[in-house]
Parts: sequence; structure tokens; C-alpha cells
Amino acid sequence: MKTIEDLGDLAGQRVLVRSDLNVPIKDEVIGDDGRIRASLPTLIKLAKAGAKVIVTAHLGRPKGEPNPAYTLAPVAKRLGELLQPEGITVHFATDVTGESAQEAVQELDEGEVLLLENVRYDPREESKDEAQRGELADELAALADVFVSDGFGVVHRKQASVYDVARKLPHAAGGLVLAEVEVLKKLTEDPARPYVVVLGGAKVSDKLAVIDNLLAKADKLLIGGAMVFTFLKAQGHEVGKSLLEEDQLDIVRGYLKDAGDKIVLPTDIVVAPEFKGDSPATVVAADAIPADQLGLDIGPDSGKAFAAEVAGAKTVFWNGPMGVFEMAAFAGGTKAVAQALTEVDGLSVVGGGDSAAAVRQLGFADDAFGHISTGGGASLEYLEGKELPGLAVLEEG
Ligand code: ADP
Ligand code: MG
Repeated sequence: MKTIEDLGDLAGQRVLVRSDLNVPIKDEVIGDDGRIRASLPTLIKLAKAGAKVIVTAHLGRPKGEPNPAYTLAPVAKRLGELLQPEGITVHFATDVTGESAQEAVQELDEGEVLLLENVRYDPREESKDEAQRGELADELAALADVFVSDGFGVVHRKQASVYDVARKLPHAAGGLVLAEVEVLKKLTEDPARPYVVVLGGAKVSDKLAVIDNLLAKADKLLIGGAMVFTFLKAQGHEVGKSLLEEDQLDIVRGYLKDAGDKIVLPTDIVVAPEFKGDSPATVVAADAIPADQLGLDIGPDSGKAFAAEVAGAKTVFWNGPMGVFEMAAFAGGTKAVAQALTEVDGLSVVGGGDSAAAVRQLGFADDAFGHISTGGGASLEYLEGKELPGLAVLEEG
């Protein structure tokens, strides 16, 4: 993959950057701004090189039409605050490639940054139709001279601002994409052992796909989060009102049969009658979840067992919180695993938007871990051994 250095002298050049600025926003207030911070080094590098930096990004799922609930305006503001100490001014265009974007590009000075409005306001961004995506990519490309792909969290998506636009302009991978890929390579090519993978979170079926591949590579696979209940059910236990993916049971039975003792499940579970922070929580054995309760975290014994496996590893990849960490009563498992990751003598990687937010919310510093990935889905697909369109296209000349 070409790097920014390979693009030559960028002074006065219009550089379109695809960043991943998809941060949690509630009532116009940004929660964890980790993804914005992770995007800064590339933007600063380009601005300091005298480029006119034009950033395209998405926020949430506005379903192909403008929707003020998904405006990037608060992100532009935050970006401006973060770049101010560098003396870099940030402008905002109120559309994706329209009049506002074109005018703002016209007026952009060298060393300044322009953020375009949410690219998913345009239905062509995520279209399955290559011609449709190509049209939007042409409009984006018309705004710039070169393209830098730095939104690692979206490189697994074949979308206009990620994939198609790279075919229209001279292109390079940004520093964030390069750093993420380097870590993923370490996880897939000859990882130091023991290699422990911890999977949790809410998106069960998304994450089940990676298990196949990881079972062949990792020494231990620890399962937490909502996924646990599909595994427990597959073992024949009742899971009460917990999240369950019935249609995945056969696949999970297969994993359990093939895995030997590689798959480690929690032995105790924190349950409550309702999905509420103040619902009375109790700890039960994993094979004795009451019918009227739901599992919201791994229990304290499991937390200790998982922590011991993690702390003894030389390579750890963790994706997905162990429980509903947003509520203090159900954050214990996530905290135990996070703490253990900070003690790893080797490579520790945290992947996934919510996992990254969790470790920060629980008070851990970013540098307590070897690497905090900005891309959950992208890193999982890489670990699955899939080709990521947004990376493959950068390898094309
Ligand atoms: P990531 O973004 O790190 O990939 P996910 O998006 O898959 O993680 O999942 C994060 C969410 O999973 C969190 O909001 C958390 O509350 C939820 N979660 C974890 N455990 C459970 C559970 N037992 N039941 C319901 N939700 C859970
Ligand atoms: Mg998530």
C-alpha cells in the first residue's frame, strides 16, 4: 500500500481524506471522542504539509437522506477544538458534494481542514449498484487531487467514499489504516503464544463468523457478553429472558464439538429481572439461570478465571464488552478483563467501538493497552481472513 509520503509534495494540493468519525452523540453532546482523536495525526500531517484537507465521513445510519439527528456539525466543532492548538482551522460544509461543499473547497486555504456533511445522507454511498456509487465517487473525486484512506472502521465496506473513490484518484493509506493493519498482521501471522481471544458484546451473529477462523489460530477463546447465552443454550441449559439467537444454535453446537477445551464459557452469570441499571442483580450458576431473569454480565468467578487466562497470555485480542458495562451493576466482568489486559506481557489489542468506549469509561488510559483499534467490524473481518475491499483497492495501482 502506498503511504502519504509516496504522494509527493502536497503543498497546495486538495487532499480528500476518508476518516472514521462515527462517535456516539446524544443531544448534540459527543460521548467517547476516541475516533476523532485517532484521526488527528493524519489530518495534522497533511495540513502541515500545506495541503487543503477535505474530510469525508459518516455518522450513524441516516438511511440515505439528510437528517439533523445525524449531522456531523458537532464533530466539526470538536475537530476544531482539537486542532486549534495546532493552529489548524476547521470548516464545515452543510452538504456532501453539493453547493456548500464546492464553495467551501474553493475557499479552503492551504493548511486548513474542511469537513463535509455526513456522506450517508447520500443514498449512493451505500448503494449496491456500482454505477450509483461511481457517480457519488466522481463527485467526491472532483473536489480533490488525491485521496487518502484513513477510516479504518469502514475499510470492510464497499462504499463510494471508501472503495469507489480510491479508483478515481491517486491514493494512499493514511497513518491510522497503516497502524491498524500492522497490528492485525501481528495477530494473524505467527502470534506469540499463548494467544488468547476474548469475544463479547451484543452483535452475536456478526461475531460468530470470526470464531471459525480464530479457533484454528488462538489457544483459548473466552466468550462473554450476550453471545454467552447462545452457547449455554447450545449446551442444553435454559437462559431465561437473556438474549438468544436460536438460528445460530446449530453452528454454535458445531463450534463446541470441534473446539475441545479451547472455548471457555463463564461458570457464573449476573442476572436481573429487567434490563435496567437498578434492577436487583444476583449471581447465579451459568447452568441455573432462572426463567424470569436475564443475564447481563459474566459473574465474579468467571471474571477472575478470564482475567487469569488473559494476564498469562503473550498475545490477546479482545472484542466486545463482557456485560452491559453502561450500567455500573453489570460492568464488573468488563472491568476484570480490561484490568487483565493492562497486565499482559506482550501484545494486547482492544477492538470494537463499544469496547474502546468501555475501557475509557472504566477509567483506563489508552496507553495501558498495546493498541486500541478504532474498527470493530473491520478488524473482525480481517481476522476472519476476508479480503477487505477498502484495503484491497489501495493495493491497486
Ligand atoms: P463492540 O462495539 O465493542 O464491537 P458490540 O457493539 O458488539 O461491541 O456490543 C456492545 C454492547 O453489548 C454494549 O452496549 C453492551 O451493553 C452489550 N452487551 C454486553 N453484554 C450483554 C448482555 N449480556 N446482554 C445484552 N447486551 C449486552
Ligand atoms: Mg458496537
